Amino acid sequence: MPKYNFCPQCGKPLVEEEKAGKVRKICADDACGFIFWDNPLPVVAAIVERKGHVILVQSIGWPASWFGLVTGFLEKGEMPEEAVLREVQEEIGLEVEMGGYIGMYPFYRMNQLIIAYHVIAKDGEIKLDETELAAYREVPIEKVQPWAAGTGIALRDWLRTKGYERELVQFGS
Ligand SMILES: [Zn+2]
Repeated sequence: MPKYNFCPQCGKPLVEEEKAGKVRKICADDACGFIFWDNPLPVVAAIVERKGHVILVQSIGWPASWFGLVTGFLEKGEMPEEAVLREVQEEIGLEVEMGGYIGMYPFYRMNQLIIAYHVIAKDGEIKLDETELAAYREVPIEKVQPWAAGTGIALRDWLRTKGYERELVQFGS
């Protein structure tokens, strides 16, 4: 979420004021009336399974040891279960089918709500979307290590359904 200092409607400064029970940034001009609600943004995340492995991806700019789930935003008019299939196909170039819904998880630091799914990828060559991803890794399910963040907790919960009980580690370790 952007941290607005100026009103996106009229360009005047935003000031902090209590509104509907919380301190919020509102437009200094009463006639404009803009309020920055800072609502969380929904983000879909995919645990991509293929032939006994989970495909993890590294975003451009991440340290070399960081790998996470495929994630993405919803297009206007799209439902999360449609968005997650589209995002996986766009980002790693594999056809996928829905495995199932896993759950919703908070990602407070980014002000996001993670909506996690398990998807099953078909055979084929992985082709990364090079505008977003730098690398991928295929990890055997019995070796996948979930991390202590929204998407990692989703992975931990999914591993549990497969009979693997895992402690959360710090992301990237
Ligand atoms: Zn304004």
